[in-house]
Amino acid sequence: MATNALSGFPPALVRRLVIKIGSALLVDPAGEVRVDWLRTLVADVAARKAAGQQVIIVSSGAIALGARRLKLPKGGRGSLEDAQAAAATGQIALSQCWASLLHEKGITAAQMLVTLDDLEHRRRYLNASATLERLMALDVVPVVNENDSVATAEIRFGDNDRLAARIGQAARADAVVLLSDVDGLYTANPHADANAMLIERIERIDARIAAMADTGSASGMGSGGMVSKIQAAQIATGAGAHLAIISGKVDAPLSHWANAGRGSIFLAAESQGARKGWLSGRLTVLGRIIVDAGAEAALGKGNSLLPAGVAQVEGVFARGDVVDILNQDGRVIARGLTEYDSEAAAKIAGRRSEDIPGLLGEMSRTVLVHRDHMAMV
Ligand code: GLU
Repeated sequence: MATNALSGFPPALVRRLVIKIGSALLVDPAGEVRVDWLRTLVADVAARKAAGQQVIIVSSGAIALGARRLKLPKGGRGSLEDAQAAAATGQIALSQCWASLLHEKGITAAQMLVTLDDLEHRRRYLNASATLERLMALDVVPVVNENDSVATAEIRFGDNDRLAARIGQAARADAVVLLSDVDGLYTANPHADANAMLIERIERIDARIAAMADTGSASGMGSGGMVSKIQAAQIATGAGAHLAIISGKVDAPLSHWANAGRGSIFLAAESQGARKGWLSGRLTVLGRIIVDAGAEAALGKGNSLLPAGVAQVEGVFARGDVVDILNQDGRVIARGLTEYDSEAAAKIAGRRSEDIPGLLGEMSRTVLVHRDHMAMV
Protein backbone atom coordinates (compact mmCIF):
# COMPACT_ATOMS: atom_id res chain seq x y z
CA MET A 1 0.00 0.00 0.00
CA ALA A 2 1.30 3.46 -0.83
CA THR A 3 2.48 5.41 2.21
CA ASN A 4 0.64 8.52 1.07
CA ALA A 5 -2.68 6.66 1.14
CA LEU A 6 -1.96 5.73 4.73
CA SER A 7 -0.77 9.21 5.66
CA GLY A 8 -3.03 10.60 8.37
CA PHE A 9 -4.30 7.06 9.09
CA PRO A 10 -7.69 7.79 7.48
CA PRO A 11 -10.78 6.13 8.99
CA ALA A 12 -11.41 4.30 5.71
CA LEU A 13 -8.13 2.38 6.07
CA VAL A 14 -7.62 2.40 9.83
CA ARG A 15 -10.67 1.25 11.73
CA ARG A 16 -9.11 1.18 15.18
CA LEU A 17 -6.40 3.68 16.16
CA VAL A 18 -4.26 4.14 19.27
CA ILE A 19 -3.06 7.71 19.82
CA LYS A 20 -0.17 8.27 22.23
CA ILE A 21 0.49 11.72 23.62
CA GLY A 22 3.80 12.50 25.34
CA SER A 23 4.23 14.49 28.55
CA ALA A 24 5.90 17.49 26.88
CA LEU A 25 2.82 18.02 24.70
CA LEU A 26 0.32 17.67 27.51
CA VAL A 27 2.04 19.68 30.22
CA ASP A 28 3.63 23.10 29.85
CA PRO A 29 6.97 23.97 31.49
CA ALA A 30 5.09 25.52 34.41
CA GLY A 31 3.42 22.18 35.07
CA GLU A 32 -0.09 23.01 33.87
CA VAL A 33 -2.11 21.01 31.33
CA ARG A 34 -2.00 22.64 27.88
CA VAL A 35 -5.78 22.70 27.76
CA ASP A 36 -6.13 24.84 24.62
CA TRP A 37 -3.95 22.51 22.58
CA LEU A 38 -5.58 19.44 24.07
CA ARG A 39 -8.99 20.76 23.04
CA THR A 40 -7.80 20.87 19.41
CA LEU A 41 -6.64 17.28 19.66
CA VAL A 42 -9.95 16.21 21.18
CA ALA A 43 -11.70 17.93 18.24
CA ASP A 44 -9.59 15.74 15.94
CA VAL A 45 -10.62 12.66 17.92
CA ALA A 46 -14.29 13.64 17.73
CA ALA A 47 -14.05 14.12 13.95
CA ARG A 48 -12.48 10.71 13.55
CA LYS A 49 -15.07 9.04 15.71
CA ALA A 50 -17.79 10.70 13.67
CA ALA A 51 -16.15 9.22 10.57
CA GLY A 52 -16.32 5.74 12.11
CA GLN A 53 -12.81 5.37 13.52
CA GLN A 54 -12.47 3.80 16.97
CA VAL A 55 -9.96 5.59 19.15
CA ILE A 56 -7.90 4.58 22.19
CA ILE A 57 -5.78 7.23 23.90
CA VAL A 58 -2.53 6.48 25.70
CA SER A 59 -1.75 9.56 27.74
CA SER A 60 1.44 10.41 29.59
CA GLY A 61 1.72 13.43 31.83
CA ALA A 62 0.80 12.13 35.28
CA ILE A 63 4.30 12.44 36.70
CA ALA A 64 4.94 15.86 35.15
CA LEU A 65 1.62 17.23 36.45
CA GLY A 66 1.89 15.69 39.90
CA ALA A 67 5.48 16.87 40.37
CA ARG A 68 4.39 20.45 39.88
CA ARG A 69 1.52 20.16 42.33
CA LEU A 70 3.74 18.58 44.95
CA LYS A 71 6.65 20.94 44.17
CA LEU A 72 9.03 17.99 43.69
CA PRO A 73 12.48 18.54 42.17
CA LYS A 74 13.65 17.06 38.83
CA GLY A 75 10.13 16.92 37.43
CA GLY A 76 9.26 14.25 39.99
CA ARG A 77 11.82 11.84 38.57
CA GLY A 78 14.44 12.28 41.28
CA SER A 79 13.55 8.99 42.98
CA LEU A 80 11.08 6.15 42.50
CA GLU A 81 9.08 7.29 45.55
CA ASP A 82 8.81 10.82 44.14
CA ALA A 83 7.74 9.51 40.73
CA GLN A 84 5.11 7.29 42.33
CA ALA A 85 3.71 10.05 44.50
CA ALA A 86 3.75 12.44 41.53
CA ALA A 87 2.00 9.89 39.32
CA ALA A 88 -0.71 9.26 41.90
CA THR A 89 -1.34 12.99 42.29
CA GLY A 90 -1.07 13.85 38.62
CA GLN A 91 -3.16 10.96 37.33
CA ILE A 92 -6.35 12.11 39.00
CA ALA A 93 -5.98 15.58 37.46
CA LEU A 94 -5.08 14.09 34.09
CA SER A 95 -8.13 11.83 34.01
CA GLN A 96 -10.37 14.67 35.04
CA CYS A 97 -9.04 16.79 32.20
CA TRP A 98 -9.51 14.08 29.55
CA ALA A 99 -12.98 13.21 30.83
CA SER A 100 -14.20 16.79 30.74
CA LEU A 101 -12.70 17.67 27.33
CA LEU A 102 -14.08 14.49 25.75
CA HIS A 103 -17.42 15.15 27.43
CA GLU A 104 -17.54 18.60 25.80
CA LYS A 105 -17.64 16.71 22.50
CA GLY A 106 -20.27 14.26 23.74
CA ILE A 107 -17.74 11.43 24.15
CA THR A 108 -17.62 9.14 27.18
CA ALA A 109 -14.14 8.48 28.53
CA ALA A 110 -12.92 5.42 30.45
CA GLN A 111 -9.69 5.10 32.40
CA MET A 112 -7.40 2.07 32.31
CA LEU A 113 -4.19 1.99 34.34
CA VAL A 114 -1.99 -0.98 33.55
CA THR A 115 1.42 -2.26 34.59
CA LEU A 116 3.93 -4.06 32.43
CA ASP A 117 3.09 -7.25 34.31
CA ASP A 118 -0.60 -6.93 33.38
CA LEU A 119 0.33 -7.24 29.72
CA GLU A 120 3.17 -9.78 30.06
CA HIS A 121 1.01 -12.46 31.69
CA ARG A 122 -1.09 -14.11 29.07
CA ARG A 123 -4.31 -14.35 31.10
CA ARG A 124 -4.16 -10.78 32.34
CA TYR A 125 -3.28 -9.62 28.85
CA LEU A 126 -6.35 -11.37 27.48
CA ASN A 127 -8.40 -9.79 30.23
CA ALA A 128 -7.18 -6.28 29.32
CA SER A 129 -7.83 -7.14 25.70
CA ALA A 130 -11.42 -8.16 26.45
CA THR A 131 -12.02 -4.95 28.42
CA LEU A 132 -10.75 -2.83 25.53
CA GLU A 133 -12.96 -4.74 23.12
CA ARG A 134 -16.03 -4.16 25.29
CA LEU A 135 -15.24 -0.45 25.64
CA MET A 136 -14.93 -0.18 21.85
CA ALA A 137 -18.32 -1.86 21.43
CA LEU A 138 -19.80 0.62 23.92
CA ASP A 139 -18.40 3.52 21.89
CA VAL A 140 -16.26 4.75 24.75
CA VAL A 141 -12.77 6.26 24.41
CA PRO A 142 -10.36 4.51 26.81
CA VAL A 143 -7.61 6.73 28.23
CA VAL A 144 -4.71 4.49 29.22
CA ASN A 145 -1.58 5.14 31.25
CA GLU A 146 0.93 3.05 33.10
CA ASN A 147 -0.02 2.51 36.74
CA ASP A 148 3.13 4.30 37.81
CA SER A 149 2.13 4.64 41.46
CA VAL A 150 2.40 0.91 42.10
CA ALA A 151 4.83 -0.46 39.50
CA THR A 152 8.33 -1.09 40.83
CA ALA A 153 11.41 0.11 38.98
CA GLU A 154 12.47 -3.21 37.42
CA ILE A 155 9.06 -4.07 36.10
CA ARG A 156 7.97 -0.81 34.55
CA PHE A 157 7.39 0.07 30.96
CA GLY A 158 8.88 3.42 31.95
CA ASP A 159 7.82 4.99 28.69
CA ASN A 160 4.42 5.18 27.08
CA ASP A 161 5.69 4.50 23.54
CA ARG A 162 6.06 0.78 24.15
CA LEU A 163 2.94 0.80 26.33
CA ALA A 164 1.00 2.27 23.39
CA ALA A 165 2.28 -0.45 21.07
CA ARG A 166 1.35 -3.19 23.53
CA ILE A 167 -2.10 -1.65 24.03
CA GLY A 168 -2.47 -1.51 20.24
CA GLN A 169 -1.69 -5.18 20.12
CA ALA A 170 -4.10 -6.03 22.97
CA ALA A 171 -6.83 -3.99 21.28
CA ARG A 172 -6.10 -5.49 17.85
CA ALA A 173 -5.71 -1.94 16.55
CA ASP A 174 -4.90 -1.32 12.89
CA ALA A 175 -2.48 1.47 13.71
CA VAL A 176 -0.71 3.39 16.46
CA VAL A 177 0.31 7.04 16.19
CA LEU A 178 2.88 8.55 18.52
CA LEU A 179 2.48 12.32 18.91
CA SER A 180 5.90 13.60 19.69
CA ASP A 181 8.06 16.71 19.89
CA VAL A 182 9.84 15.50 16.75
CA ASP A 183 8.03 14.95 13.48
CA GLY A 184 9.47 11.54 12.66
CA LEU A 185 12.55 9.39 12.37
CA TYR A 186 15.60 11.13 10.91
CA THR A 187 18.77 9.71 9.41
CA ALA A 188 20.63 11.50 12.23
CA ASN A 189 19.68 13.64 15.23
CA PRO A 190 17.98 16.68 13.59
CA HIS A 191 18.92 18.94 16.51
CA ALA A 192 22.61 18.19 16.03
CA ASP A 193 23.00 17.51 12.31
CA ALA A 194 21.77 19.93 9.63
CA ASN A 195 21.90 17.21 6.96
CA ALA A 196 19.56 14.90 8.84
CA MET A 197 16.69 13.75 6.63
CA LEU A 198 13.22 12.55 7.58
CA ILE A 199 12.46 8.94 6.60
CA GLU A 200 8.84 8.77 5.52
CA ARG A 201 8.37 5.08 5.09
CA ILE A 202 10.05 2.20 6.91
CA GLU A 203 9.25 -1.25 5.61
CA ARG A 204 11.59 -3.22 7.83
CA ILE A 205 13.30 -2.32 11.07
CA ASP A 206 16.82 -3.49 10.40
CA ALA A 207 20.11 -2.66 12.13
CA ARG A 208 20.49 0.47 9.97
CA ILE A 209 17.14 1.86 11.16
CA ALA A 210 17.80 0.94 14.78
CA ALA A 211 21.13 2.81 14.61
CA MET A 212 19.34 6.03 13.68
CA ALA A 213 17.72 6.25 17.09
CA ASP A 214 19.14 8.73 19.51
CA THR A 215 18.77 7.93 23.19
CA GLY A 216 17.03 10.21 25.64
CA SER A 217 13.99 12.41 25.50
CA ALA A 218 14.56 15.82 23.94
CA SER A 219 12.02 17.51 26.19
CA GLY A 220 13.50 16.14 29.41
CA MET A 221 9.92 15.68 30.60
CA GLY A 222 8.86 12.28 29.33
CA SER A 223 11.07 9.25 29.31
CA GLY A 224 10.79 8.00 25.75
CA GLY A 225 13.43 8.85 23.16
CA MET A 226 13.75 7.51 19.63
CA VAL A 227 14.99 4.16 20.95
CA SER A 228 11.73 3.45 22.75
CA LYS A 229 9.80 4.63 19.67
CA ILE A 230 11.63 2.15 17.47
CA GLN A 231 10.99 -0.61 19.99
CA ALA A 232 7.34 0.42 19.94
CA ALA A 233 7.40 0.21 16.15
CA GLN A 234 8.87 -3.28 16.39
CA ILE A 235 6.07 -4.43 18.70
CA ALA A 236 3.29 -2.77 16.69
CA THR A 237 4.44 -3.82 13.24
CA GLY A 238 5.11 -7.36 14.51
CA ALA A 239 1.50 -7.44 15.67
CA GLY A 240 0.28 -6.43 12.23
CA ALA A 241 -0.34 -2.72 12.98
CA HIS A 242 1.21 0.33 11.31
CA LEU A 243 2.96 2.83 13.56
CA ALA A 244 3.53 6.50 12.82
CA ILE A 245 5.62 9.15 14.55
CA ILE A 246 4.29 12.64 13.92
CA SER A 247 4.67 16.06 15.44
CA GLY A 248 2.27 17.07 18.15
CA LYS A 249 3.68 20.58 18.29
CA VAL A 250 0.88 21.99 16.15
CA ASP A 251 -2.81 22.50 16.91
CA ALA A 252 -5.15 19.73 15.71
CA PRO A 253 -2.12 17.49 15.02
CA LEU A 254 -4.08 14.66 13.41
CA SER A 255 -5.82 16.91 10.86
CA HIS A 256 -2.54 18.68 10.28
CA TRP A 257 -0.88 15.35 9.53
CA ALA A 258 -3.71 14.27 7.25
CA ASN A 259 -3.34 17.54 5.30
CA ALA A 260 0.40 18.15 5.30
CA GLY A 261 1.50 14.51 5.34
CA ARG A 262 4.74 14.96 7.26
CA GLY A 263 5.78 12.07 9.50
CA SER A 264 7.33 8.61 9.52
CA ILE A 265 5.28 5.48 9.01
CA PHE A 266 6.54 2.01 9.94
CA LEU A 267 4.50 -0.39 7.86
CA ALA A 268 2.82 -3.38 9.49
CA ALA A 269 4.56 -6.70 9.00
CA GLU A 270 2.59 -9.76 8.06
CA SER A 271 0.78 -10.87 11.21
CA GLN A 272 2.12 -14.03 12.83
CA GLY A 273 -1.17 -14.67 14.59
CA ALA A 274 -2.29 -13.14 17.84
CA ARG A 275 -0.56 -15.47 20.28
CA LYS A 276 2.81 -15.42 18.53
CA GLY A 277 2.57 -11.65 18.11
CA TRP A 278 2.01 -11.28 21.85
CA LEU A 279 4.99 -13.50 22.50
CA SER A 280 7.38 -11.62 20.24
CA GLY A 281 6.25 -8.29 21.72
CA ARG A 282 6.97 -9.40 25.28
CA LEU A 283 9.48 -7.24 27.08
CA THR A 284 10.63 -9.48 29.91
CA VAL A 285 12.87 -12.23 28.65
CA LEU A 286 14.61 -14.37 31.27
CA GLY A 287 17.10 -16.43 29.31
CA ARG A 288 19.08 -16.79 26.11
CA ILE A 289 19.66 -19.94 24.13
CA ILE A 290 22.41 -19.76 21.54
CA VAL A 291 21.97 -22.24 18.70
CA ASP A 292 24.21 -23.60 15.95
CA ALA A 293 23.78 -22.96 12.22
CA GLY A 294 21.90 -26.23 11.69
CA ALA A 295 19.28 -25.36 14.31
CA GLU A 296 19.00 -21.82 12.91
CA ALA A 297 18.16 -23.26 9.50
CA ALA A 298 15.68 -25.71 11.04
CA LEU A 299 13.88 -22.93 12.95
CA GLY A 300 13.73 -20.89 9.75
CA LYS A 301 11.80 -23.76 8.18
CA GLY A 302 9.30 -23.74 11.03
CA ASN A 303 10.67 -26.58 13.15
CA SER A 304 10.87 -26.81 16.94
CA LEU A 305 14.18 -26.29 18.74
CA LEU A 306 15.79 -29.59 19.73
CA PRO A 307 18.52 -29.78 22.39
CA ALA A 308 21.02 -31.10 19.81
CA GLY A 309 21.26 -27.69 18.13
CA VAL A 310 21.90 -25.75 21.35
CA ALA A 311 25.41 -24.37 21.81
CA GLN A 312 24.90 -22.45 25.03
CA VAL A 313 22.25 -21.62 27.66
CA GLU A 314 22.35 -18.33 29.58
CA GLY A 315 20.22 -16.93 32.41
CA VAL A 316 18.02 -18.43 35.11
CA PHE A 317 14.55 -19.44 33.99
CA ALA A 318 11.80 -21.89 34.82
CA ARG A 319 9.77 -24.09 32.51
CA GLY A 320 7.24 -21.92 30.68
CA ASP A 321 9.35 -18.73 30.88
CA VAL A 322 10.16 -16.69 27.81
CA VAL A 323 13.62 -17.09 26.30
CA ASP A 324 15.33 -15.50 23.34
CA ILE A 325 16.95 -17.78 20.77
CA LEU A 326 20.13 -16.35 19.24
CA ASN A 327 22.24 -17.46 16.29
CA GLN A 328 26.02 -17.75 16.24
CA ASP A 329 26.34 -14.04 15.40
CA GLY A 330 24.51 -13.15 18.60
CA ARG A 331 21.38 -11.97 16.77
CA VAL A 332 17.96 -12.79 18.27
CA ILE A 333 16.19 -14.96 15.70
CA ALA A 334 13.22 -16.22 17.71
CA ARG A 335 11.49 -15.98 21.05
CA GLY A 336 9.61 -18.77 22.75
CA LEU A 337 8.36 -20.46 25.89
CA THR A 338 10.84 -23.02 27.13
CA GLU A 339 9.89 -26.60 27.99
CA TYR A 340 12.76 -26.91 30.48
CA ASP A 341 14.21 -24.80 33.28
CA SER A 342 17.70 -23.37 32.79
CA GLU A 343 19.45 -26.12 34.78
CA ALA A 344 17.92 -28.94 32.75
CA ALA A 345 18.39 -27.00 29.51
CA ALA A 346 22.12 -26.64 30.21
CA LYS A 347 22.33 -30.36 30.95
CA ILE A 348 20.82 -31.41 27.62
CA ALA A 349 22.40 -28.67 25.46
CA GLY A 350 24.07 -30.24 22.42
CA ARG A 351 22.76 -33.73 23.25
CA ARG A 352 20.74 -35.91 20.91
CA SER A 353 17.07 -36.56 21.68
CA GLU A 354 17.68 -40.24 22.46
CA ASP A 355 20.17 -39.28 25.19
CA ILE A 356 17.68 -37.13 27.07
CA PRO A 357 15.77 -39.81 29.02
CA GLY A 358 19.15 -41.01 30.35
CA LEU A 359 19.96 -37.47 31.51
CA LEU A 360 16.60 -36.27 32.77
CA GLY A 361 14.44 -39.37 33.21
CA GLU A 362 11.98 -41.33 31.09
CA MET A 363 9.15 -38.79 31.17
CA SER A 364 11.22 -35.98 29.63
CA ARG A 365 10.20 -34.05 26.53
CA THR A 366 12.30 -34.14 23.38
CA VAL A 367 12.00 -30.48 22.35
CA LEU A 368 13.44 -27.50 24.16
CA VAL A 369 11.12 -24.90 22.58
CA HIS A 370 8.12 -26.15 20.66
CA ARG A 371 7.33 -24.42 17.38
CA ASP A 372 3.75 -23.68 18.56
CA HIS A 373 5.22 -21.66 21.41
CA MET A 374 7.81 -19.86 19.33
CA ALA A 375 7.71 -16.67 17.26
CA MET A 376 10.40 -15.81 14.74
CA VAL A 377 11.78 -12.31 15.26
N1 GLU B 1 3.49 7.17 32.51
C1 GLU B 1 4.25 8.37 32.65
C2 GLU B 1 3.36 9.52 33.08
O1 GLU B 1 2.18 9.47 32.98
C3 GLU B 1 4.92 8.79 31.36
C4 GLU B 1 5.85 7.83 30.75
C5 GLU B 1 6.56 8.48 29.54
O2 GLU B 1 7.23 9.46 29.75
O3 GLU B 1 6.38 8.00 28.42
O4 GLU B 1 3.83 10.53 33.52
